[in-house]
Amino acid sequence: MEFTHAPEDEAFRAEVRAFLAEHLPKDLAHRHYYGFHPVPKADLQRWNQILNDKGWATPHWPVEYGGPGWSPIQQHIFEEECARAHAPDISWQGVRLAAPVVYTFGSPEQKERFLPGMRSGEVLWAQGFSEPNAGSDLASLKTTAVRDGDHYIVNGQKTWSSEGHYASWGFFLVRTDSTVKPQRGISFLMIDLATPGVTVRPITLFNGMHYVNEIFLDNVRVPADNLIGEEGAGWKYAKFLLDNERTSSAFVHFSRHWLERTREIARRETVDGVPLIEDTTFARKLAAVEIDLQALEFSVLRVLADEKTRWDPTAVASVLKIRGSEIQQRVTELAMEALGPRSLRSIDGLDDPVIGDAAQLPRWPDDVVGVNSTMLQTRAVTIYGGAKEIQKTIISKLAFQL
Ligand SMILES: Cc1cc2nc3c(=O)[nH]c(=O)nc-3n(C[C@H](O)[C@H](O)[C@H](O)COP(=O)(O)OP(=O)(O)OC[C@H]3O[C@@H](n4cnc5c(N)ncnc54)[C@H](O)[C@@H]3O)c2cc1C
Repeated sequence: MEFTHAPEDEAFRAEVRAFLAEHLPKDLAHRHYYGFHPVPKADLQRWNQILNDKGWATPHWPVEYGGPGWSPIQQHIFEEECARAHAPDISWQGVRLAAPVVYTFGSPEQKERFLPGMRSGEVLWAQGFSEPNAGSDLASLKTTAVRDGDHYIVNGQKTWSSEGHYASWGFFLVRTDSTVKPQRGISFLMIDLATPGVTVRPITLFNGMHYVNEIFLDNVRVPADNLIGEEGAGWKYAKFLLDNERTSSAFVHFSRHWLERTREIARRETVDGVPLIEDTTFARKLAAVEIDLQALEFSVLRVLADEKTRWDPTAVASVLKIRGSEIQQRVTELAMEALGPRSLRSIDGLDDPVIGDAAQLPRWPDDVVGVNSTMLQTRAVTIYGGAKEIQKTIISKLAFQL
């Protein structure tokens, strides 16, 4: 395989880089550089709007629905350049997760109703799949939607809803028939979160951040024309959505950014007067994760280049998801190890650059901010989008034909 990009792709990279240099607001990039914190809603929508004005807010959408018509390699280059410039991701829930379901399975009216708000970022979305007793075993979900004339009456509880507190709409899996096989009785319903009976409550994660939420649905009246596709076919749409989610879960650019930050920290930190970067044991760990990251990136590029393989595509997506998540965890652990006890700084509540100001704490170098909270946050990457053990089962069943 050839590891260099074609000249037209390099020209595309230059165009993206120039656009980012001119249009990515500096304050927004500065906040994002520091690592995980929930990107403020205003930042998400501002950046989404800037990209939308350029026609670049929906790189993965087909041209007929407003996508820019980029090849998968160009999409990869775009993401690489955005990460390099410290641009935040735009909100995934609507653009990356719900939209493909709407334009693939929705009616013409639903496409017209939902896609423009997703593209512009004016309407942010929440994913309402998981429940307190239905995570890995999603098909056992209990939230019900009972038909009542031209409405459904929805009752139940969803949990772990990312950015649910930013969202004005949610896409939900609900049980419309409990007399059939669990997977057959599930439907995909769009719910306006301002409807009476919907309550969104925060869950505080162990790094102190508010990113996920519980959503309670108490006799919520939802118009029946908010149902996507056919009643009872929601499981098929959910699998389609989750496959999309996993294919984009390698997060190579995130790990590369954290590798660089770790290297910077290790150049500055010293042990007995010697820079940590020169410590053989530490340097070896850094090199090992860098080699694995490079290998992962080539694997992602092989998938993007549509290289022929004998492996099932769903199994390949699961492999990339597992490997990508493990590397995110290893590289952020190394950043924390490089800082030693100083990485515990977030316990004073100033770790979030949105609320804390590192400059007020001269004893703490700038690059301490965000390390601890990001390391803690990446514990979740082997859970969401399908837990690691479940991915391994998928791989063993599909790739090894069990
Ligand atoms: C930060 C974060 C954000 C999230 N965002 C969303 C969101 O926006 N919307 C949404 O709907 N959900 C979201 N989730 C939920 C996520 O999808 C679930 O947490 C995940 O599917 C696991 O389900 P669970 O938490 O119920 O754990 P369980 O399913 O109870 O699993 C617990 C452990 O048991 C293991 N296990 C379970 N079953 C098996 C099995 N059959 N074989 C082997 N091991 C097994 C799992 O791998 C895991 O290690 C989010 C979760 C997190 C942590």
